[in-house]
Amino acid sequence: MKLATRLIHAGEPEQPFAGAVSMPIFQSSTFLASGSTDYHDLKYIRLNNTPNHQVLHAKLAALENAEAALVTASGMAAITTTLLALLKSGDHFLAQDCLYGGTLDFINQDLPGLGIECDLIDGQQPETWKSCLRPNTRAIYVETITNPLMQVIDLEKVVSFARQNGLVSIVDNTFASPINFRPAEIGFDISLHSCTKYLNGHSDIVAGAVIGRRKLVESVRHKLNHFGASLDPHACFLLHRGLKTLAVRMAHQNRAALVLARFLADHPMVAGVNYPGLAQDPYHAMASKLLDGFSGMLSFEINGDRQKAIALMEALEIPFCAPSLGGVESLVTRPATTSHAGMTPDQRAAAGISDQLIRVSVGLEDPEDLVDDYRQALEKIG
Ligand code: PLP
Repeated sequence: MKLATRLIHAGEPEQPFAGAVSMPIFQSSTFLASGSTDYHDLKYIRLNNTPNHQVLHAKLAALENAEAALVTASGMAAITTTLLALLKSGDHFLAQDCLYGGTLDFINQDLPGLGIECDLIDGQQPETWKSCLRPNTRAIYVETITNPLMQVIDLEKVVSFARQNGLVSIVDNTFASPINFRPAEIGFDISLHSCTKYLNGHSDIVAGAVIGRRKLVESVRHKLNHFGASLDPHACFLLHRGLKTLAVRMAHQNRAALVLARFLADHPMVAGVNYPGLAQDPYHAMASKLLDGFSGMLSFEINGDRQKAIALMEALEIPFCAPSLGGVESLVTRPATTSHAGMTPDQRAAAGISDQLIRVSVGLEDPEDLVDDYRQALEKIG
């Protein structure tokens, strides 16, 4: 079945509960157990095995053509639990140098105290990765599309490098979503999501997912059962409902982001646009090879200073100024004060993140209305 059909039907109970076409919420912490069941057969919300969890696990695994999946209480719960399940004190791993800020903070601030070391690698220079390997290197961690510059590195090379060197390959696939990229299909061992973003798509829950090889997902589940970062059944229900419309939402967002990116790229007040869907973008060839769509995320630099960028964001009438992404409403942020505020100005400059860089999450509004809104806002501040 095609992805859009799988989103609706994969993983659903063979016999709908009480004939319900839509999966009901099982708002029960515990479930009846017969005397003969062992601990692993008990159903309990923290053990991530209620009917609401099971349906989501089967659907998410089917979506990415992977063996197994697990939902978690947030994207960060998926990331931290995975790293702590797959790495132990004395281990070392490699990670791309421009990861989501929360992931980087966890790597820099929490893992060293637990005896887990990391070397940050330049994703665009695969020839340098080998020199960072140590006898205790266990994993390599990257993102499909990086934030906020929307870079797409050679992900096939990441997988082959991991295989050659006996590493577990892990990718945060949040920005692409399974509609645009399914990591297991090119051989990634684990794909992670902040389901808070595209997978739920309505900016009304936090949730995460771990998708990949069954043995690895099982060990993450074991750790998650101990950490207790389980997704609540009501959030499971909302995620399940949101997932059903992912294909139509993503198709619109892919298309609308391209329309907006083209408009911005041609505007004299815009210094540059980062969107791998643009033919002139340096990542266009790689993204076209790997992805089925370029997502609804883009960033651009305004001609002018920080004040000009702030004025533009204030002049926009449709998008909300708010962090996060992937919802039905367009959002704009200035990474220098949100996702990358933790870096020093020098670090941001070295990473190519200027004060006048604006990141856009394109929502489900009509792209013509968005273009009109950006046009009027640019005229207003011009
Ligand atoms: N990964 C990426 C790429 C993100 O953008 C985010 C949040 O912005 C996360 C992970 C963390 O997800 P959550 O906020 O659901 O914990």
